[in-house]
Amino acid sequence: MKKQSPNDRIKNFNEVALGMAEDEAVKEATRCLFCKKPKCSLECPVEIDIPRFIKAIKEKNFSEAIKVIKEKNNLPGVCGRVCPQEDQCEGVCILNAKSKPINIGTLERFAADWELKNQPTSAESSKENGQKVAVIGSGPAGLTVAGYLAKIGYSVTVFEALHAAGGVLIYGIPEFRLPKDIVKKEIEYLKSLGVKIIPNYIVGKTATLKELFEQGYKAVFIGTGAGLPSFMNIPGENLNRVYSSNELLTRANLMKAYLFPKYDTPINIGKSVAVIGGGNTAMDSARVSLRLGAEKVYIVYRRSDKEMPARKEEIENAKEEGIIFHTLTLPKKILGDEKGFVKSMECIKMELGEPDSSGRRRPIPIKGSEFIMDVDTVVVAVGQSPNPVFLKATPELKLGKWDKIVVDPDTQATNLKGVYAGGDATYGDNTVIAAMGAGKRAAKSIDKYLKGVKK
Ligand code: FAD
Ligand code: SF4
Repeated sequence: MKKQSPNDRIKNFNEVALGMAEDEAVKEATRCLFCKKPKCSLECPVEIDIPRFIKAIKEKNFSEAIKVIKEKNNLPGVCGRVCPQEDQCEGVCILNAKSKPINIGTLERFAADWELKNQPTSAESSKENGQKVAVIGSGPAGLTVAGYLAKIGYSVTVFEALHAAGGVLIYGIPEFRLPKDIVKKEIEYLKSLGVKIIPNYIVGKTATLKELFEQGYKAVFIGTGAGLPSFMNIPGENLNRVYSSNELLTRANLMKAYLFPKYDTPINIGKSVAVIGGGNTAMDSARVSLRLGAEKVYIVYRRSDKEMPARKEEIENAKEEGIIFHTLTLPKKILGDEKGFVKSMECIKMELGEPDSSGRRRPIPIKGSEFIMDVDTVVVAVGQSPNPVFLKATPELKLGKWDKIVVDPDTQATNLKGVYAGGDATYGDNTVIAAMGAGKRAAKSIDKYLKGVKK
């Protein structure tokens, strides 16, 4: 897939990956073997019939291709851009044994973009059955539940704490990876199915779970995500110009800081920035910092490249753009100037020992290897935990380790009758498609529950 050149793209927030042209998509689709027992589809958490949509592209029947995808996935433009296909459908494509797998993600994106340009899918929902379902949170988990249930006739209302719907898709993942226009159009499609979205509504504050049931909702899905930033608890983390990745990315994406002063949200990024962490959030924070005008941006990560949880593609993009990687490095303290602004960071070099409980090799500090990095800004991107507002207001809900909501993995049912949950609120940071897969399981269970089906 063509991309903007690194020199050009670091000066703008436009999309980096440019997608496929029609002839390229057809050529790629022609490589598919249309396997009788396609491993790719088995590996897809939302069960897309992958060979069938690829065949439609091969036959240049693009409207059929998107129809096949939308039988199972209401957010194809999103998934075609940010899903880790390399670990899922593409990872198991039979062609891996011979050459390169089919570029399934890019074909999905092609079909979704073709539809947005040419012919929006007309929404098809069953007749309303009069039963009301409430969804808390409008991230990919909540939107999936809403779309699935609206299609089969439920009256679904999504309550969203922020002023815009989409969860991390809208406030976290930057414009240059996932244009907000794509997310908005896919949400418009859900609205055309009858889904109501109420923004600025914090369940737990504006209304409690009990009050939602009193308002006539017969079942509730909790998709409140994991938006509470974790910190490292090292000295200096309270200095000026230490950001959580969450704050930096929300200001940049949702509040459009990069268009300041047109939008009133500046970010004082400074000349050199250290981003601590090795996941997608860290890569996004580093690349956003560069585009906001930082001259030097470092990724500081305590393990090696190999253990980085970020998508390979995004690590490569970051390196191409000139982000400097300090791997096997752990920050020990952040040092400030007399005005209370970040001046530098003290780090120590690490080496890898035996695997820990996560299966990854444990990083061990090398005595005497401390060094100082001069930086103006530090962005902490070391993980997030479940949003606490709703959880605190709902003490009857059973929580597990790190305050994740405990669910039955087959049905997504919580310990409360008629209440289901999924996405990052249930198992910490994960992926868009995993949240959608959980949403789909929950929606099926809610349908059974409301129809009185036992199993
Ligand atoms: P979220 O997307 O977090 O949505 C939860 C929503 O609930 C939010 O809108 C929140 O405001 C709302 N909410 C919370 N509490 C309440 C309340 N009390 N009342 C009402 N609303 C409430 N995954 C990938 O697959 N590929 C990637 O490239 C990728 N990149 C990422 C980059 C970043 C910066 C981040 C942070 C995550 C990334 N992820 C990526 C992970 C992915 O975005 C998440 O796993 C996914 O969004 C989880 O979906 P969710 O619906 O559970 O929660
Ligand atoms: Fe095509 Fe690969 Fe799926 Fe087989 S496994 S159907 S070759 S995409």
